[in-house]
Amino acid sequence: MSGPLLELQAVHKRYGSGDAVMHALRGVSLRIFPGEFLAVMGPSGSGKSTCMNILGCMDQPSAGRYWFRGVDVGGLSRDQRTLLRRHYLGFIFQGFNLLNRTSALENVEMPLIYRGMPAKERHAAALQALDTVGLRGWERHMPNQLSGGQQQRVAIARAIVTRPLLLLADEPTGNLDSQRSREIMQLLSAFNRDLGITVVMVTHEADMAAYAKRVVLFRDGLIAQDGAENGTC
Ligand code: ADP
Repeated sequence: MSGPLLELQAVHKRYGSGDAVMHALRGVSLRIFPGEFLAVMGPSGSGKSTCMNILGCMDQPSAGRYWFRGVDVGGLSRDQRTLLRRHYLGFIFQGFNLLNRTSALENVEMPLIYRGMPAKERHAAALQALDTVGLRGWERHMPNQLSGGQQQRVAIARAIVTRPLLLLADEPTGNLDSQRSREIMQLLSAFNRDLGITVVMVTHEADMAAYAKRVVLFRDGLIAQDGAENGTC
């Protein structure tokens, strides 16, 4: 595919109404091509999470368009958006978001269950994903028996087990020390480089953004700076 993987065209997002209206995005346009690795930066309240929620099909623009692989996401039904999420997107969160009473293996299997994959195939794929993130032998452990870095690895295995086209990571190293953070960033870089997974990552840390090939800076609901436009990516 030579066109953009996704495109936002003049996207606005307003919350509330009347005097209480909050204009979270004020006309964001962004094109992301397959294989890119973006860091999204900017002060708190600048619209980063709102933009990620729209990219992740968790929320919809108040105005403007979102195209994913040439498909107008605004024209999809709720069920179709859910399918788009399940088939093409992977998510990683600052707080890991694992199911606590569920083993590492079962956590990783979860998105495959939603896809209706048979148990044997599912186990094999989840084991392979855990192996890829360096957690062979930890399959039966519960999240509370794992360190923060290991929990984030499980979450990454869960995000990539479906071989998504796009990985959305919201401050994936926000709860980790610097050594663990570097390890997580090396994993994300490897998935981007070796598997061609497009990565969009929100971060507050310049050290982490340095792993990305392009940095997009949000300010007051707008993109204030884009590495692609400066030719710096
Ligand atoms: P960031 O992720 O950069 O911190 P957000 O996208 O979370 O920024 O927020 C952008 C603006 O939109 C903020 O002023 C925030 O308070 C507001 N906002 C975000 N979500 C909601 C919501 N559900 N209801 C009302 N206002 C919201």
